[in-house]
Amino acid sequence: MPKNVVIVGAGVGGMCAGALLAKNGYNVTVVDRIDTVGGRTRTQNVGGYGVPRGAVSFQMHGILPTICKEVGAEFEIRPVNEMWFWIKGSDEFVQLPAKSGIGKMIEMFMKVHGGGGGTKAMAQVGLQLSIAKIGAAFKDPGAAAVGDDGPTFRQWIEQYTDNKELIALFHTITSAVSAVNDFEYPARHWFAHFAAADARMDKYALLPGGMMAVSQALGKTIEARGGKILLNTPVLKIESAGGKATGVTVQINGGNKTIPADIVISNAGPTLTMSLAGEDALDKKYVDHVKSRIRPTPIVATFVVSDEPLFEPKSAILAAGLRRIVTGVPLTNICPEWAPDGKHLMSFYGTPASCLKPMDKEDERQANMADVLDLFPDFEKKGGKFLDVQLRDIGDADVVARSWPGYNVPVHTSMPNLFNVGDACGPAGFIATPAAAMSARMATDHILENIKN
Ligand SMILES: Cc1cc2nc3c(=O)[nH]c(=O)nc-3n(C[C@H](O)[C@H](O)[C@H](O)COP(=O)(O)OP(=O)(O)OC[C@H]3O[C@@H](n4cnc5c(N)ncnc54)[C@H](O)[C@@H]3O)c2cc1C
Repeated sequence: MPKNVVIVGAGVGGMCAGALLAKNGYNVTVVDRIDTVGGRTRTQNVGGYGVPRGAVSFQMHGILPTICKEVGAEFEIRPVNEMWFWIKGSDEFVQLPAKSGIGKMIEMFMKVHGGGGGTKAMAQVGLQLSIAKIGAAFKDPGAAAVGDDGPTFRQWIEQYTDNKELIALFHTITSAVSAVNDFEYPARHWFAHFAAADARMDKYALLPGGMMAVSQALGKTIEARGGKILLNTPVLKIESAGGKATGVTVQINGGNKTIPADIVISNAGPTLTMSLAGEDALDKKYVDHVKSRIRPTPIVATFVVSDEPLFEPKSAILAAGLRRIVTGVPLTNICPEWAPDGKHLMSFYGTPASCLKPMDKEDERQANMADVLDLFPDFEKKGGKFLDVQLRDIGDADVVARSWPGYNVPVHTSMPNLFNVGDACGPAGFIATPAAAMSARMATDHILENIKN
């Protein structure tokens, strides 16, 4: 008899795990509380526009495409392969090279802030010296590896410069790569993540069907191999006996039903997994570890529509020196089908004032909207309008990441047949959908090796 696996949650992590196990002959049932697969990659209809609820960019290399290929999940992709950069004080966007993107950003920075001639020459030399010192210190990041929650990246960089604009540039790089403020992110984790992260700025894609197309395609492979996907079916409890998971109790057709399982994989996030399983059913040491590690990452996503494109290239942008916004994507330059004919949709992502404290939602809304106007002074002339400002606070379900990079928790729980998958459970250097995919790989590798069919 094939082993029965129940997966709680149809996000990228859950669907990758389900597809890998279904391919290996396990009997897979995926249950999700909402009416679609994809979790934080789903698309919503807002006023006739296809607005991504979370992920937009699909990394074309690495673990997620590898798993999709392995299980035979197919979907349409539109490669982008470009990144453009804007820095406050300059009125132009410049294209970044695929390699040495940071070098080009520094070059732009010097153009804007380096000055030249007269007294400014001294400032220029000072800045160049600071940049050289930072460059050298980058080669020896071990110096920053003090304690788990030791000095922040901001404290680290302030040893080499007090130039506010230069610090702001590194704030953008930090937020764009990790989604955490540099003045809150311990330098130790910053360097570990940056060194391990595949921070290449090339080879990403948008999917005309939205990022949820990945989960839909994975779902098809699960069903084709005899698995089931139950939507609108919240899991109320992860059942256990004698220190092992025995199944899940779900709400279905107006009643409750228990689905027995040999293996339970939760994609609901480690914190929710603990409450579904009941803290008393898990080892105290494990519970304490999860509680001390998890740090949800908030984000503000601003969507604007316009009659003319605000930005012409088919590329994402990085922006330095704004209040909150660090990246943006002119979505309909690449996927025009996400807007009614003749209209344009662009998204912007901002890191809130704090990634540790709850946000002041009105302040965040105003700051992000003001940033859009700074980036595109011709916003109104081009028929620009704000469509939606999504404020994803620390306690919300749809945060950008369930834990900061470096604060991930293992896929194993204290029950031998209960696993977590998702973006809080990837290894160092992985964030977002690649982290979710990698956690699925780690959990399923362990199952294939140790809980054989
Ligand atoms: C604004 C924003 C922009 C982003 N941009 C990008 C990007 O460009 N590229 C990128 O790679 N990533 C991006 N991300 C991150 C990415 O969306 C997430 O990292 C990824 O989708 C997380 O997948 P997951 O498998 O961890 O879980 P989720 O997608 O959160 O899936 C978990 C699922 O579990 C279900 N669930 C929860 N509780 C229960 C229950 N009790 N019963 C049944 N089901 C339950 C939920 O409904 C959900 O479907 C972005 C995120 C946000 C918010």
